[in-house]
Amino acid sequence: MPTYRYWTRSAAPLPAWPEPDTFELREAPVPEPAEGQALTRTIYVSLDPYQWGYKKRGVEPPGAPCHARTVAQVVESRMEGLAPGDLVFNTNGWAEMGLMGEGVPRPGYMIPRRLDPAQGRISQAVGVLGMLGLTAYAGMVLQCEPKPGDTAVVSAASGGVGQIAGQLARLKGCRVVGIAGKPEKCRFVTEELGFDACVSHLSPTFADDLRAACPAGVDVYFENVGGAVFDAVLPLFNPGARMTICGLIATYGDPDGDAARAALMARGEAIFTARQVSVRGLFVGDYVTDHHDEFLAQMGPWVASGQVKYREDIRQGLETLPAAFAEMLSGGNFGKMLVQVSEDPTL
Ligand code: NDP
Repeated sequence: MPTYRYWTRSAAPLPAWPEPDTFELREAPVPEPAEGQALTRTIYVSLDPYQWGYKKRGVEPPGAPCHARTVAQVVESRMEGLAPGDLVFNTNGWAEMGLMGEGVPRPGYMIPRRLDPAQGRISQAVGVLGMLGLTAYAGMVLQCEPKPGDTAVVSAASGGVGQIAGQLARLKGCRVVGIAGKPEKCRFVTEELGFDACVSHLSPTFADDLRAACPAGVDVYFENVGGAVFDAVLPLFNPGARMTICGLIATYGDPDGDAARAALMARGEAIFTARQVSVRGLFVGDYVTDHHDEFLAQMGPWVASGQVKYREDIRQGLETLPAAFAEMLSGGNFGKMLVQVSEDPTL
């Protein structure tokens, strides 16, 4: 009987951040697709910070493959409109194979779809031409409404979401300041992505460096990180500034995510009120139904023409998933983190 491999959460207690014994590699018989389902072979697994939150909140059933968005190829289909060889976006997770279609559990807003390789590299369907691009578009363009001449600051600026959010602000005529870690990431953000400045949160003079990079204050802040990064941005807000809380990755090791968010809001409250800063939370799932098509119609040509650049960090092999995930959560990725687990037929 043919089998496939997948990673699941081990029985070890969940630490603050992933450790080598947090995950376990297992093998299972390849499932048969039922009527309305297709069997797919995973090509790319998307690694995203929210996946750690899923584990912390116990969203995944014990023994199930770790959740992830994936790009895959149809092997066998009993689903209308899908044939063997078709390329798809789906949610196989950290697994070599998976079913999609009727009755296959998935987050409601992660809607499987057939991919057209003519629209861009298929790996981008889990990045700039997928949920991450939509996240950046919803937070930066729809929520923060950047105007020409605004100063827009983006944290985790070289990462999957941050690099897109900053380039969208640039296209809207803003002066864009990134915040990133290592010097090579900061160089990439200014030299490759065209941000006006980038400061390192690893510098002992980070808060002063950020103030110097924003001489006219901050009108728009796209928050990916929280913690000390937020504390450095807070005093720089101009009256009427807009902030979107896309994510708070610095706090994802905390047992209580809601408390971490409440603590950040409490630290900001006096300045938010005095300067009438509008602060909005962001959940990309809220934007899929009404904005995905409009987003793709704009982003597709921007990426194809090079107006929006997009860096991926693609690791190789199913075995590398746990280490790549831990690295991504601690800044070891340089661009959107993916793991390729089988051949990409479009390359
Ligand atoms: P990234 O590719 O940006 O990877 C994470 C990066 O965060 C690291 O590379 C590191 O960059 C930075 N980082 C990690 N820890 C810290 C820290 N303690 N202080 C400062 N920086 C840190 O991830 P994504 O682009 O996938 O995700 C970015 C954010 O977007 C996350 O918070 C995620 O949860 C959120 N998100 C939210 C969605 C929504 O619906 N609201 C949807 C999708 C993503 P560096 O080395 O530069 O410090």
